[in-house]
Amino acid sequence: MAMERELLKNAMSKPCTLAYPFEKREMPKGTRGRHEYDEAKCTGCGMCSRVCPSFAIELKGLGPKCEGLKVNLGACLFCQQCEESCPTGAIWLTTAYELAVINKADQILDFKRTPRAPAAPVAKPAAPVEVKK
Ligand code: SF4
Ligand code: SF4
Repeated sequence: MAMERELLKNAMSKPCTLAYPFEKREMPKGTRGRHEYDEAKCTGCGMCSRVCPSFAIELKGLGPKCEGLKVNLGACLFCQQCEESCPTGAIWLTTAYELAVINKADQILDFKRTPRAPAAPVAKPAAPVEVKK
């Protein structure tokens, strides 16, 4: 009798699985997925690349001349250290989790940045004027 009751209960209830890939689950906040990058915020400081424990970030030039960066998802540990260390919030992990690729080369995220002119040197303050007594 218990078995029939269980069968009836399951036949009446909704499935708890999704018909993936036709239906997709919305990932909870905090899920560490594919990176995103905002070139306007990036200063080319290189901190993200320096702190990456798996050397997954390659910077394309430093400072104002930086032309962006490459993130190798095949090497990435999704530790989020790059996001936490970026002083300007230019790189962050999204909840995008579908990262499977056919070709290994497609694991590389190639983020582009337009190089900027270096900041103009700050003018030296004028020497103090001596006042004759
Ligand atoms: S999430 Fe971690 S391992 Fe992946 S690129 Fe950022 S610092 Fe490197
Ligand atoms: S993404 Fe952030 S940490 Fe990386 S080079 Fe740009 S500003 Fe620096």
